[in-house]
Amino acid sequence: MSGDVNPFESLQEQIDDAAEYIDVGTDVLERLKRPERVLETNLTVELDDGSLEVFRAYRSQFNGDRGPYKGGVRYHPGVTRDEVKALSGWMVYKCAVVDIPYGGGKGGIEIDPIDYSDAELERITRSFATELRPLVGADRDIPAPDVNTGQREMNWIKDTYETLEGTTEPGVVTGKAIDSGGSRGRVEATGRSTMLTAREAFDYLDKDPAGATVAVQGYGNAGSVAAKFIESELGADVVAVSDSSGAVYHPDGLDTRAVKQFKNETGAVTGYDGASEELTNEELLTMDVDLLVPAALENAIDADLARDVGADVIVEAANGPLTPDADEILTDRDVHVFPDVLANAGGVTVSYFEWVQNRQRFYWTEERVVEELERHIVEGFEGLVDAYEEKELPSFRTAAYVVAIERVADAYAESGTWP
Ligand code: GLU
Repeated sequence: MSGDVNPFESLQEQIDDAAEYIDVGTDVLERLKRPERVLETNLTVELDDGSLEVFRAYRSQFNGDRGPYKGGVRYHPGVTRDEVKALSGWMVYKCAVVDIPYGGGKGGIEIDPIDYSDAELERITRSFATELRPLVGADRDIPAPDVNTGQREMNWIKDTYETLEGTTEPGVVTGKAIDSGGSRGRVEATGRSTMLTAREAFDYLDKDPAGATVAVQGYGNAGSVAAKFIESELGADVVAVSDSSGAVYHPDGLDTRAVKQFKNETGAVTGYDGASEELTNEELLTMDVDLLVPAALENAIDADLARDVGADVIVEAANGPLTPDADEILTDRDVHVFPDVLANAGGVTVSYFEWVQNRQRFYWTEERVVEELERHIVEGFEGLVDAYEEKELPSFRTAAYVVAIERVADAYAESGTWP
């Protein structure tokens, strides 16, 4: 993992790469390369022992041309201002690729949640939600889960907002538990879109996913659900999976659900007794497999690793898992990379369905969610492939940015100029 590559610079480079192929003025592009605003705040929270601790937190609102700012909130010790800015920009282009009516935002707290009690995490989350109150709202900016946050944190954010506003407004945040206004199918949505993208990618490349070998780096919500669906719906063999503890491998394929259960019980995938071998994360990322799914954090694959990647196809479940140099090397090596802004867009797409349900106070069946999600991802894939072929673009990532930037720039142009 390459810690010195700044993800915000990576985002700007991706936009510049696409700019060569689109008819958008440099003045407009400059707007599309930086956030509209960033909140940086220091949360002072009382710990269980009565002492105080200060936590740095951010919310970046990148672009609102296509609708309210939308994106998750992550809790991680590596959260920085530039990381949050990059992630908020990726949300803009992600929402545009799958054509849902949102702009992009992202938030984060610099914290390792493992070090804090549930009561402390609740106070930290409510403190952040209080800071966010003037910025968020169902028509303004809608947070959601991201790394190390989930239904519990979203329920706290919703409750804090509703209490302070003296109203009920479940659509202020998505990724909530079902009884608090969450949508069926939301928890599995990111992994489902990764599986759907892999399915479409294999079909496009004339490869059969049944019996294909797959390695998954990262076994949190995105990676473990993607692995489960790739195994159960595509019939592929998930031969290796990893988390921060290392990787487990079995040449005949792992039982992806059993590994998840083992990780839930022990906190790690390593030690799982259905594996034939344990590997390092680097070994997993360079394995000779048909499909590699990076599903952890940014910059997992740098230029050095990219030269050794053995996979034919990469489908990105994480946000920004390749450095720009790695991306270029893989493109030159004819490794087909299907980008994050499509492959993990299922999360925000079902967030959109959740928000629609919240606003109508009318809730969908899981079948409807799964069907509508599939439509958005398949249409997103087709739009990307059409641009790739018609404009003879160098990569599917550039194709995704070409499609997305044109949509955002059109929305901006159509709304006219405000002094
Ligand atoms: N954090 C997820 C992402 O990066 C989901 C965002 C959302 O649902 O708004 O796409």
